[in-house]
Amino acid sequence: MTHNVPLFINGGCRQSESTEWLEVTNPADNKVIAKLPLSTESEMEHAVSQALIAQKQWKEVAVSERARLMLRYQQLLKEQHDAIAQLLSTETGKTIADAKGDVWRGIEVVEQAANIASNMMGETVENVATDIDGYSIVQPLGVCCGITPFNFPAMIPLWMFPIAIAAGNSFVLKPSEQVPLTAIRLAELFQQAGAPEGVLQVIHGGKEQVDYLLAHPEIKAVSFVGSVPTAQYIYQTGTAHHKRVQAFAGAKNHMVVMPDANREQVINHLVGSSVGAAGQRCMAISVAVFVGTSNQWIPELANAMSKVNPGAWDDDNAAYGPLISATAKQRVLTLIQQGQAEGAECLLDGSECHVSGLPDGNWVGPTLFRGVTRDMSIYKEEIFGPVLVCMEVETLEEALSLVNSNPYGNGTSIFTASGAAARKYQHEVMVGQVGINVPIPVPLPFFSFTGWRGSFYGDLHAYGKQAVKFYTETKTVTARWFDDDIPDGPNLTIHLR
Ligand code: NAD
Repeated sequence: MTHNVPLFINGGCRQSESTEWLEVTNPADNKVIAKLPLSTESEMEHAVSQALIAQKQWKEVAVSERARLMLRYQQLLKEQHDAIAQLLSTETGKTIADAKGDVWRGIEVVEQAANIASNMMGETVENVATDIDGYSIVQPLGVCCGITPFNFPAMIPLWMFPIAIAAGNSFVLKPSEQVPLTAIRLAELFQQAGAPEGVLQVIHGGKEQVDYLLAHPEIKAVSFVGSVPTAQYIYQTGTAHHKRVQAFAGAKNHMVVMPDANREQVINHLVGSSVGAAGQRCMAISVAVFVGTSNQWIPELANAMSKVNPGAWDDDNAAYGPLISATAKQRVLTLIQQGQAEGAECLLDGSECHVSGLPDGNWVGPTLFRGVTRDMSIYKEEIFGPVLVCMEVETLEEALSLVNSNPYGNGTSIFTASGAAARKYQHEVMVGQVGINVPIPVPLPFFSFTGWRGSFYGDLHAYGKQAVKFYTETKTVTARWFDDDIPDGPNLTIHLR
């Protein structure tokens, strides 16, 4: 049975009064599982104005108390880990193992948010001039907002609101209209953990609702994760409205395979990192760059990939789930056709893919191309499907030049037994997250998620210390106290000189 997805305002779920609704579907069978309202202007205004009121009180709450909220939230998320993962699987089609990973990576950020006091420390210099001290204090911005994509319904909202709120802000979340159910569950649990009403609000919708947030004078910072055109639009529009913006965008991630690498590891990791989660990960490996004789392993790679099958979230044999929508599937199929038409050799074509009992799901089988060149659409575009393209070069220098001339800079990896090759690659590659014999190098939350170039618009990245800087402002104080003003009394004067 379908239900209406509620808004989450002032600490509780509220039914929207909107007259415009979208359908939320299960991508494994395209059946409608819920209806999603496009929030009305008055609902959004209410969400933001109440978030503003809540923030004024919340910022005065002791930092250790704000941290304790995160500890309680982390505990609840752990208790509910499997249930959240199951809900997440229903709306994304992800396998349960993948869905659990999605939730877990979010929980790790909540853990980091509990460390907020250490990350909000200012600096002090005594005697910047005689008897004058200088120090900085770190303060929250006010109301911040987050706009999130479909592919990590737990992890990406959790990249954002826990740190923003721990730092003393309030937060308005607009989750992907394709996967709103997990976001509402996260908000309910946040409330259950003891969050004050209005500190986290969730509204729903698409471009119109995002535009409202981007223009609202009380929203001080915008965190966005999604596709390149939307990221560019959000960065331009948000900054034009004088907001702080961080916009994480699409990717084309290369794995460089040196001939001295461990062949078995290369093949296993290439399969997992390219087709895992149906390739719908911004850190998926979508290009394998074979250096020298390592290209001899391509037939073995094709063989390994051909044994991997998609399936339903609760099927233990499924390596990955469906694509998020029929439109996404059609886009991937069109790119596969284009690859063939442009002259790449298709070693495995997953266009005709069927999963028993689920004939209407958005399935695409593992797809592998070789003989791919820089000018082909399957190299230039982010496919966001279970498709891996192979390119072949003679030297590490050539591999570096290829990766560095690609406009994206989210993630990359090198597989090699040579420390010198790894060091050179790490040093010279112009990509923000590098794996050495690690295929998908997503940094843990004490670092930050540091995509570069066309994969990121902004200055300060998600989670870690950079996120705390993003959600706060630094105030510098220069203070002078005159000895003459010290009241008489033995206990005060004794310590002063
Ligand atoms: P998307 O850009 O279609 O949507 C993302 C969000 O933006 C959604 O909430 C959506 O409602 C909103 N939106 C869509 N069009 C808009 C418009 N014209 N104006 C304003 N808002 C709009 O992205 P998606 O398909 O949900 O997510 C997949 C993309 O996200 C991929 O490109 C992937 O690489 C990227 N991604 C990047 C990272 C990263 O960290 N760099 C992480 C995850 C996903």
